[in-house]
Amino acid sequence: MWRAIDLQGGGGRALVTGNAGDFAVIDSADFALLAANALDETHPRYADLYAKGFVTKPDDSGLRRLEGAITRTRKSFLLDGPSLHIFVVTLRCDHSCQYCQVSRAAVDARGYDMNLADAAAAVDRVFESPAKNLTIEFQGGEPTLRFDLVRQIVAMAEARDIGAQRMMRFTMATTLHHLSDDDLAFCHDHGIHLSTSIDGAAALHNRQRSHPSRQSYERTIEGLARARAVLGHDGVAALPTLTKATLADPHGLIDTYRELGFGALFLRPLSPYGFALKTRRAIGYDMAEFLTFYEKALDRILDLNRQGIAFEETNAAILLRHILTPFHSGYVDLRSPAGAGLGVLVYNYDGKVYPTDEARMAAETGDTRFALGSVHEPLDTLIGSPAMQWLTTGAVAEEQPTCAKCAFVPYCGADPVHHATTQGDPAAEREGSEFCTKHKGLFHILFRHLADGDPETLRTFTAWALRKPRHEVGVPAEFAA
Ligand code: SF4
Repeated sequence: MWRAIDLQGGGGRALVTGNAGDFAVIDSADFALLAANALDETHPRYADLYAKGFVTKPDDSGLRRLEGAITRTRKSFLLDGPSLHIFVVTLRCDHSCQYCQVSRAAVDARGYDMNLADAAAAVDRVFESPAKNLTIEFQGGEPTLRFDLVRQIVAMAEARDIGAQRMMRFTMATTLHHLSDDDLAFCHDHGIHLSTSIDGAAALHNRQRSHPSRQSYERTIEGLARARAVLGHDGVAALPTLTKATLADPHGLIDTYRELGFGALFLRPLSPYGFALKTRRAIGYDMAEFLTFYEKALDRILDLNRQGIAFEETNAAILLRHILTPFHSGYVDLRSPAGAGLGVLVYNYDGKVYPTDEARMAAETGDTRFALGSVHEPLDTLIGSPAMQWLTTGAVAEEQPTCAKCAFVPYCGADPVHHATTQGDPAAEREGSEFCTKHKGLFHILFRHLADGDPETLRTFTAWALRKPRHEVGVPAEFAA
């Protein structure tokens, strides 16, 4: 079985994909033959299209078995259960960022910290998951305001892990402002990887990430230097939040990240959750504006790589891993069945459990349909909850009518929380949704590059997909064949 789509800006070429993720870009005359089942064995594209399963012979059982094996590899995350466990240890934060109005509380507010009994119960839930690789991510608010609780959770998880033999990983999203030398030594000793927010150069960052000192950027940069000195250069990652102001200057954002010594930038549009409509009008944008920005930024990053300067765009790297390899990237926000509740669980400061961080934020705005239950309920009960049963109606992309026909479905995912929040139904029509428009746009951009076949771009894409240094990968000649 194959699906096809006209490649936007592709000069009349069509992209054809199979269930297992094989693809071919073919011109309109060849596509007409393929669609009419009239491609004969003497045609120059026949061997390639047959090998990819797009033309068939009476006995193709070997190819079908191969397709099944690749699909099982691609979906192997299904056997794991939740592997990402997000602990919102406090909602308090001393920033008041433009785009974060509902998921923070004032730094001196009471009743917004997780208590120890809830934290211990959340650790129990983590270890009820069968996943071999477990990540505990500390979030807020600003989680370092409760670093004492972070220490206790790490100690509890490590004590549990001694017998369980899991691969444990800890991460923390932090402004880096409040970490003492002792805290950093603890992060080093317990392998806590830090991730911070840097929205661009100082003026933009300070405007968007408002802090009483008016020096949010300077304090984060100072914290970055201290953290790198203890954890190593790669011990801290950074992410920007892209607002309308950022979109005006893609090169400026890339330059800032390079000047700060980062080797990657994750370009994601602003989440539709967590701030009021009025603010969204001031700082938001539509998906077409994001995609125009994205294409310019990606071109700039590809140029850098062409010049021998290794720099990754992480959103592309995730999609390319799905396109160019039989493996899933592990990114829980883009998989089918969806990661919500099945790959990720969020333990809120108040003891409630949510299937994603977006669901938690929706609850903060009064939409409580996504709560799976209390952290004191067993994992099976949470995963079998009415909220999860409702969300699973939109959790499988291949079962959504529009996705089932879409050529990008082998590489895409389902986001039932997004569709429930924005359209009221986890299984709402995908065509025209922000999620779908974004991914279709990104897939068109990436496949256009693959089809154009520039050897240096293909080398960069392959390096990103295989997670290898660029000099270690060859230049594949046949992607577009
Ligand atoms: S969400 Fe959109 S791009 Fe993704 S598979 Fe469905 S229809 Fe295709």
